[in-house]
Amino acid sequence: MPYKFTFDLTKVPRFFFTEVARISYRKGMHRTFLNRLQNIITKFRIQEATGLNLSDALVLLQDFIDLQALNLMKRKEFLESNKRALFLPHCARRYMDSRCKANFDASIPSYACSHCSEDCLVNRADCLAKERGYDVYVLPGGSCIPKILKTNRYEGIVGVACGEEMRVYGEILGGMDVAGQAVPLIKNGCANTIFNMDTFVKTI
Ligand code: SF4
Ligand code: SF4
Repeated sequence: MPYKFTFDLTKVPRFFFTEVARISYRKGMHRTFLNRLQNIITKFRIQEATGLNLSDALVLLQDFIDLQALNLMKRKEFLESNKRALFLPHCARRYMDSRCKANFDASIPSYACSHCSEDCLVNRADCLAKERGYDVYVLPGGSCIPKILKTNRYEGIVGVACGEEMRVYGEILGGMDVAGQAVPLIKNGCANTIFNMDTFVKTI
């Protein structure tokens, strides 16, 4: 399920994400956690940069922190995993229409990138992950994951998606013996979405 709002954090200073990572370590230790989140939103002018109201900005920031906390918790186990898969969101393809030359295999179901556009995030992520031995899936939605995991015994998963979709991933992976790592979208909208390539490379 998509968020009820759209956001674009591509112009927010990189330090914002460092701050998110820092606060994730300390999550649960702050009595005034909500105040802290509001301070960050003010400090980085998130509402001005995104046009979000305060409650939507809080939902977004909370999701970023939850994902980062989960990444930290699972990092060691993930680094020790051997057989890994990458789940990319179809919305991050350069094109969402027939200009995208990916082949869709309904039996998986997943797109397979044909590398038609150099400036396509999915193309770059697909190449980098395959160089490192990952199986790569470009998914139309998180509900495809159980079928993939039933037929493949992956030990480590990297998932790229918006926070909302990541909750679906979390619910699915929660009951399985798989170490997950999340790379959140920094621009949502279900088309022409963006994730940070530096974060992606560090994660895989
Ligand atoms: S590079 Fe791959 S995912 Fe991107 S538009 Fe082309 S075929 Fe589609
Ligand atoms: S932004 Fe992308 S990952 Fe999130 S719900 Fe829309 S299509 Fe799925």
